Amino acid sequence: MDEFDFISKVKPNKTFQHNIVTGIGDDAAIYKATKNYNQVVCVDTMVEGIHFLKELSSPTDIGYKALAVNVSDIAAMGAIPRYYLVSIAIPPYWKEEDLLSIYNGMEELAKKYEMDLIGGDTVSIADKLVITVTVIGEVEEHVQALRSCAKPGDIVFVTGPLGDSAAGLDILLGKCDVICDPLHKEYLISRHKRPTPRVEVGRFISLLDRVALNDISDGLASELNELAESSHVGIVIQERLLPVSPALKSVEGQYDLSKWILFGGEDFELVGATSEEEWEKVKKLCHESDLFIEQIGTVTDEFQEVRLKRTTNEILKLKKSGFNHFRK
Ligand code: ADP
Ligand code: MG
Repeated sequence: MDEFDFISKVKPNKTFQHNIVTGIGDDAAIYKATKNYNQVVCVDTMVEGIHFLKELSSPTDIGYKALAVNVSDIAAMGAIPRYYLVSIAIPPYWKEEDLLSIYNGMEELAKKYEMDLIGGDTVSIADKLVITVTVIGEVEEHVQALRSCAKPGDIVFVTGPLGDSAAGLDILLGKCDVICDPLHKEYLISRHKRPTPRVEVGRFISLLDRVALNDISDGLASELNELAESSHVGIVIQERLLPVSPALKSVEGQYDLSKWILFGGEDFELVGATSEEEWEKVKKLCHESDLFIEQIGTVTDEFQEVRLKRTTNEILKLKKSGFNHFRK
């Protein structure tokens, strides 16, 4: 396969963003930065055999997810995704057709947000495909939806059901025999393969005067600990408030869902904290637009203590990965 031929095939023939001065085809891309906005940039790599398996995911799904996980980071800053760049290291056993399908998967999501592919890099590698996506977004200068912005007394919220992606992965790996309903299985697998970055909710959240925000890539417990650490606060969440999809709910009681809900990861929902007053504001805005957002707990002044109050009223200390009984 010829590198330049490949680049010409992935080069978009039209773009959405009028700010692009020059996209693919020169040494680097140029776009005009928007006045009164900050640029937001993030990059994430997916490695075959670690982040995806060629046998379990289609090339379009792989592409979709590679871009989605980055767009989720942009959403977690309250920002608007605009441009992306793709670096791809290609082993000899990947066919050009499948590589182009990876780009089609990215394009599917990019279209939704009118994002443009403005560059990348193409190299060969002996074994295992590596795909690195960089996303550039923009956010109004005054918005700082940082992990460090939570304060005691804040409401802790999430933007969607938790644990679906991890359950979907277990189904794909043949490690889950409790969920049998084919529609539930299909839903969970699609939550794993095609996570929805919460850009629209993120934009409503960006309107708040003060908000702490994170996307859930490593599991709720891990993200809450990061918020607590950065903000020098504690957090208590209520098990009964944790949103769970009908698919997971269907096996509640037969199966301990907490490993998926609390430690599963890759949900790519947003988790955040804001004052009671601001919470009422964002809840109203989201619900008026049919976007999910619900309270799951509150912020406390107990430095870095992240706890879970179970439906049984038992209180557990929630560590980044795993819980242990809270010492009295
Ligand atoms: P240079 O050698 O100057 O870095 P390249 O020959 O690597 O340029 O790339 C030529 C153009 O194609 C650049 O605009 C680059 O951003 C783009 N490009 C290269 N590989 C990819 C890719 N895999 N996906 C998207 N754009 C790419
Ligand atoms: Mg050059």
